[in-house]
Amino acid sequence: MTDPNYKFVADVMLGRLSRWLRLLGYDVKYSPDNDDNKLLYLALTEERLLLTRDRKLAERASKQSILIGSEKLVEQLKELVNKAGISTELRFSRCSICNKIIKPIDKKAVIDKVPPYTYKTHDEFYYCPECERIYWKGSHKKLIRDFLEKG
Ligand SMILES: [Zn+2]
Repeated sequence: MTDPNYKFVADVMLGRLSRWLRLLGYDVKYSPDNDDNKLLYLALTEERLLLTRDRKLAERASKQSILIGSEKLVEQLKELVNKAGISTELRFSRCSICNKIIKPIDKKAVIDKVPPYTYKTHDEFYYCPECERIYWKGSHKKLIRDFLEKG
C-alpha cells in the first residue's frame, strides 16, 4: 500500500504539513492562493491526492482526496501513514519551500553559505535552483527523527 511516488496538492490550512512532506521527498503543490476549484483542478489534471481539512471539499474530490482530521502536524503525518501508507523515510531530494528538486553543489561553493562547523563536518551539499537555499545530509534528518519520535 505504500507508494513513495505519491504526489499531493494541499489546501491552504496545510502549509506546514506540505513543507514536511517535501522534506520526506514528496511532490506537494501548495499555495495560499489556491481556491477549492483550483485545488480540485490540480488534483484531477495532475493526478495528485488532495489533502484537505475541509470535509465538503474532500467529498467533492472523492477518492482523489484524503481528509486530514487533526490540527497537529505529528498527528497529520500519522494520518497519512495510516491512510495513504506514506513513507517517513527522509529522501532528501526536494526543497521544502519551493518543491523543486535540489541539486548537488561543490563543497567549495558553499563555504560562505553554511555554518563553519557544518562545513567542517560535511562533504555533500545540495542547493535549490529556485531559492538557492543550501541543504546537507543531517540538516533535517535529526529534526525529523526527533519530531516523529516525540509524536
Ligand atoms: Zn527552494
